[in-house]
Formats: sequence, structure tokens, C-alpha cells
Amino acid sequence: MTDSNPTPDTQISGGCRCGQCRFTVSRGPLFAGYCHCNACRQRSSAPCTGFMMMDEPSFELVGETDSYRETGGSGAPIEHKRCSKCGSTIYTKLYVLKNILAVPEVLLDDKNLFQPQQHVWVSAKQDWFEINDGLMQQPGPPKLSEELMARLPR
Ligand SMILES: [Zn+2]
Ligand SMILES: [Zn+2]
Repeated sequence: MTDSNPTPDTQISGGCRCGQCRFTVSRGPLFAGYCHCNACRQRSSAPCTGFMMMDEPSFELVGETDSYRETGGSGAPIEHKRCSKCGSTIYTKLYVLKNILAVPEVLLDDKNLFQPQQHVWVSAKQDWFEINDGLMQQPGPPKLSEELMARLPR
């Protein structure tokens, strides 16, 4: 076994604030970015949230959870899976893409795994929050790779 840089097939692990929920995922991250939409900001009480898109079929979660459903920025439903004890959002299921979960980067055990590519939903950004990291800024949803485009429901 060699210890190499994260690749799309690295075993990734993480968990909630209280430790009751733990997860592993073997495919991802497929995308990483910051979301400035109202749903993310209000849910996390932060000016924006860092998230990573993971492959749902390879995502394994243990621990007791509850879920909360709402409408995402695209108008499609989204569903937040949360630890039933501490309330951390473990993932958000994006129905706008097939088999994709958005996982908050703060939950990951390996803090170096998060390598943001874009800021998304910048149209909802707070005026007092300044972006000066040079990353691509999307007024709406992420600009997706062909691999992710292939997961759009037909
Ligand atoms: Zn918890
Ligand atoms: Zn968002």
C-alpha cells in the first residue's frame, strides 16, 4: 500500500459533531466548492458552506438520523440527513443529480481533502462577505464536469 494523494477512489471517512454518526465513502469527491445559497447559510449559520459531492451508492452511514426536506436553489427537492442527537447535517441529497450527495467538508476526518473549485449561488451571497481567492464564481449552480453532467436525470 502506498500513501498517495487523494484520488477519486480514496477511502474517505468522517462523522458528526457528537460522534454518533460516522460515514465512509469510496468514490469522491466528484466536486468541491463553497455554496452561498440561503438554505446552506441558514442551516449552517455561516456566511457560506464548503461542500463536496460524493457518490451515493458508495456512501455508508452508521448512526441514528432524521431528515429534513425542502426546495433547493434549482427548484428541485433536496433532503438533509442529520444526526438525531447533535443535529449536524451529514449530507444533503440532491435530487437534481442522480446518486449524488453533498457532504459538508467540516465533517471529514482528513481536512486536506477539501480542494474547492468554485463558489456557487454567488447571486445570494451577503454583500459584506468578500471573495478574493481567485476561484471561479457561479451566480447559480456549479458548472459541472462531464462526469457529473452524465448524472443529470433524463
Ligand atoms: Zn451527532
Ligand atoms: Zn447551498
